[in-house]
Amino acid sequence: EFEEGVSRPEDRETRAPVVTVMGHVDHGKTTLLDSLRTTRVAEREAGGITQHIGAYAVELNDRKIVFLDTPGHAAFTTMRARGAKVTDVVVLVVAADDGVMPQTREAIDHAKAAKVPIIVAINKIDKPDSNPERVMRELSEIGLLAESWGGDTVMVPVSAKAKQNLDQLLEMILLVTEIGDLKANAARNASGTVLEGKLDRGRGPVATVLVQDGTLHVGDTVLVGTIVGKVRALQDDRGRSVREVGPSTPVEVLGLGGVPTPGDTFQAVEDVAKARQIAMFREEQAKAKSLGARGGRMTLET
Ligand code: GDP
Repeated sequence: EFEEGVSRPEDRETRAPVVTVMGHVDHGKTTLLDSLRTTRVAEREAGGITQHIGAYAVELNDRKIVFLDTPGHAAFTTMRARGAKVTDVVVLVVAADDGVMPQTREAIDHAKAAKVPIIVAINKIDKPDSNPERVMRELSEIGLLAESWGGDTVMVPVSAKAKQNLDQLLEMILLVTEIGDLKANAARNASGTVLEGKLDRGRGPVATVLVQDGTLHVGDTVLVGTIVGKVRALQDDRGRSVREVGPSTPVEVLGLGGVPTPGDTFQAVEDVAKARQIAMFREEQAKAKSLGARGGRMTLET
């Protein structure tokens, strides 16, 4: 709807990859996300508060990787159902003492359906009963053959708890996504996807968004779903106030006139009147749709 100047190839720069962590329950998704955050982010904070905003960036050799901090499959499928594509690579966590389980298969199916490459983190290798080879064998039986066995799936043995091999995992994420040639143009108006929305008592509507292209500034007018609002403040994943953020950056946005839904896209716009029109049109459409749905249910009930 808002195609405000198409990028020339020379304007497009490499952006950081965005990662979703998936895998069977208790295989270590949350621990991995926490360990990556504390080893690569918090230690630099000298007593600072690490804000929880639903996504965070880590750095390895001056290169960034963004992790969506909502492990599990629901977030991934909700986003996709709403047409959002935010993930460049899925890190599939498989516990080496447990092996391939139902949600491991489910995660593979989700990633394949979304055409997102998979990197396997074979986790819990610190445990005496861990058996990484078994995991590799079981994965090979369902179509993921390890590179070390002649296939094309990168598998990294790690311990999320003991913080073993986490840098190798990050290196592999960079390597795998390099092939994808991820680009964005920081000179454009910002666009991206809503990761979370909530109503904060003191701050009003707060949205965590992932800026995927362009640069988002304080003062920008944004169209988010059916909401038009002006960005009053931006806060990065470390809780710092920032004036602007570029591509592949998760950020909290204050000042929206309402609470957006995860998976909503957003665009910074110049033409506020046109944005209002689109917002109104979308609202009418949503109303018509919900009326239709209610009508349908009533027929079923009677
Ligand atoms: P999730 O359900 O996939 O998010 O799994 P969690 O991160 O909550 O981990 C489940 C349990 O496994 C917790 O008790 C963790 O402490 C433990 N755990 C996770 N990673 C490791 C690991 O690398 N080694 C060991 N020994 N335990 C782990």
